[in-house]
Formats: sequence, C-alpha cells, structure tokens
Amino acid sequence: MENDELGFEEVGRKYPDFPRTIMRKIDTALRGVILSEKALQRAKEEDALYDASADFVGQCGFDLDKPALKVRVPVSAEALPVIGGVFFRDGTYVLGLESVTRGLYSPSGTLVRKGKPYLLDSVDGELWLLDLPREIKLPNGISRGEPMEEVYFAPIPAYFSKKTSRGTPMIKVISSRAPNRITINISDYCHFFKEKLSCKYCSIIPWLLHKGVRTLVNLEDIYETVNEALEEEGGFTSIHLIAGSDPRGVNQNGSHRGNSPYENEVNEYVEVLKTLQRCFGREKIPVQAIASAFPREQLLRLKEVGLSAYRSNIEVWDNKLFEWICPGKAKYFGRQYWIDSILSAVEIFGRGNVSTQLVAGAELAEPYGFKEMDEALASNLEGVEFFARNGVYTTFCILWVDRGSVFYREKQKLPSLEYYVRLAQGINEIRKKYKLSSDFNDYRRDGFHPDMDLVRLDYNET
Ligand code: SF4
Repeated sequence: MENDELGFEEVGRKYPDFPRTIMRKIDTALRGVILSEKALQRAKEEDALYDASADFVGQCGFDLDKPALKVRVPVSAEALPVIGGVFFRDGTYVLGLESVTRGLYSPSGTLVRKGKPYLLDSVDGELWLLDLPREIKLPNGISRGEPMEEVYFAPIPAYFSKKTSRGTPMIKVISSRAPNRITINISDYCHFFKEKLSCKYCSIIPWLLHKGVRTLVNLEDIYETVNEALEEEGGFTSIHLIAGSDPRGVNQNGSHRGNSPYENEVNEYVEVLKTLQRCFGREKIPVQAIASAFPREQLLRLKEVGLSAYRSNIEVWDNKLFEWICPGKAKYFGRQYWIDSILSAVEIFGRGNVSTQLVAGAELAEPYGFKEMDEALASNLEGVEFFARNGVYTTFCILWVDRGSVFYREKQKLPSLEYYVRLAQGINEIRKKYKLSSDFNDYRRDGFHPDMDLVRLDYNET
C-alpha cells in the first residue's frame, strides 16, 4: 500500500454506503490470499479440492505436506490445485479456480500484490478469512490473525475427475467458475504474442507452452464434457467461450490471407457452437462468447449458430493509452474498429446481450498513464456511459500484475482499494441510469466482478 493510500477501515468510513463484504472481496483480490495447511486439508476433506497434478504432467499442484507459505509456484495458468470456489456467508464469491491458481501469494513472488495477503484458515472449527498484522507469524500452523469474514468452500464439480472416451481429463476441456458458469477456453493461442504485441497486463503463459501453434480443443471432448457437466446437481446456467485473438482472415483455399478480419477465430467459435447446439438439442443456446472484435458479417455467422451473448473487451477507454497498453488491438484494427464492432453487436444480439470490459487500473500504469485517480475514473466512466447509451453493459476486472506480463517485468503498481470502490459505485450508477440488465454477467453466472455484486443488491428495486 502506498503511504498516502487509505486502508480498509478508512475507505469503509469514507464510503459508508458501500457494502463491506464487496469491499473485502476487492481487497482480497488486491492483496492475495494464502491458504493455511489446515484450510487445504479441510478443502480436501470436503471434496472442495482437486489436485490435478497428474493431469498436467510437468506442472504442479499443492503440496499438502508443506506449510502453506511454502506452496509450490504453479508454472502456468493451467497448473493446479483446483478449489471449487470460496464464498462469504452472504454468497459473495471470493476465490475460485482462477484466483487460486493465479492468486496464491508465493514466497518467490508470483504476483505483485499490495500489502500482506489474507489468510484462509480454520478457527474453532469454522473457516475464516483472517487479516494478518505484519508482526504475526504462524507458529505450528496456529493462526493469530484477526477473523474478518466467515467463508465456505463450494464442492468441486464431479466431472473434474472424469475422462472423455478419448482419455482426455475433462478438467482440461472445460473449467468452471463458481457459482454457475462453465468456461471453455477453445484456444490458448493469441496471435498478438507472436507479433510481440500482447496487451501489457496479459500473461497467457500457455501460449508459450503451445509454441505458438493455434489448436482448437477437440470437439468430441467438448461434447462429452459439457454433457457430463450439465448433468450435475445444482447445474451450470451459462457457458462462456474464450480464446486468444487471431486477426487473420482465411481465403478460399484455407490459407490465412483472406480479407475478413478475425475470420480464423470466428471459424473456431462456429465449430464449438455447433457442438454445443448438439449438447442442448436446440438452436439458440445459453452461451456468451468473450472474443475479439468481429466485423458485422462474422457476428451474423455466430448468431446463426445459436450464440446468445457477446462480449468484446475494450480494456482501456482512453485512446492514447489503448494504443500503448493494447498494441495488438490497436494494430488489428484500432480502437474505433473495436467500438464499432461492439455497437453493431447490439443490433444483432440485442440490448443487454452485449458487454465489454475494462482492465481497471491499467490506465494508471507508468509512465504514460493517468497520474491522478480522479482522471482515471473520469476516463473510465466516460467510456462506461458511452457504451451504456448504446445499450452495452461495461464491467471491470481488477488489474493483476502476473508473471509473464509486460507489466510484471515493469513492476507496475496496483491501484488503491478506494479507486475500485469508486469505480464500482460509478459503474453501478450508470447501469441504473440507463436501466441496463447485467444478464450474462450476472453474479450467479460470473461472480468475479465486484460491480456485479452491487447489481445483486438492487434486485429488489426492479
Ligand atoms: S487479446 Fe490481449 S488480453 Fe487477450 S489473450 Fe491476447 S494479449 Fe491477452
């Protein structure tokens, strides 16, 4: 934490109407969370932890024989342990697969974090999120931190430990993000990395493991795994498709020199969507693509194969900072192209079914970013309001400075807790002003975003 930044309690006093649990959720994302040995053991006993090391040869998982502070560092975003999800008692989603694999605070410093990480530990038989004052050590596994929020684990989905008929571990095919979302990463490859034009906060290390070859997940594996997941008790209510960007077109003989931007990427989505239509046995399916900006003719192709919702992430609203932070998107084919694509998607998929996302805090990066929090907020909220006027919901994610990203090498700092509290409030006000629904980004379908938790509090008003 920077010296002039407000701490948790000070922010709470300054913004008394902002819900404490959501503020705590933001703070855990900023500071990181470690799990004590007792908490890990408990997750294992409650079927809330799946050690998938065996499924990811050469990578690693939790080492339950070691104290929490010596947890081995995952070698990629795929490296596991997997925890089914961690929630506060009011249902606020705090940690999940993604946060645990990427967010563990390791002794060798996987992430640039602010201040001390929180500790998840067992206290008198209950599971708590503890704040550790600086001077407190953890002798003999006994934690002496201050209990902040009681939490519970969600069980891991049963399909995690199953294999497809081709022998592929299902956990490699789809991931789940509690509470109700399945994510299919149809291709790890992002062409921007190949041209050294990756977004500066991005750390998709799997691209390196795949040696730059774009390979689509096997469609039969997807078919079998999604069917298995849909059978599970409690059920998943939405599927999100993600992939790295591929701006190349495809000409008539199949080589990548065509004229339609991003046609290569769209072709992959089309194949996966047809497979999912088979799973659901109907044409229109509850699927959101989180994808690159596609031209109108390509968006229409996605609509034809059943896609319900579309999200294309603008990431950074300010024009100059967009070009600096997202050089791949700037080259293929510029900020206005991305905006036009998002707006034309509203005509095709309908108001409420199109969204975009900001990587909030990236616009404060040095040396070209905004120097003042007020300027950064004003810029972001200008973008949010522009999109809202045009029927597009904007959500935000918290900047993570992960190993493998340009920002990590540059040792960029994370914004303050106060910045995220004000941004979440501002976005929520704009959403209410334009009566936008959150729909596919609803907290039950995607509990990741703090602004979605604010939407949840307003359900009774509508
Ligand atoms: S488009 Fe940007 S954020 Fe997305 S995978 Fe590529 S480099 Fe990463």
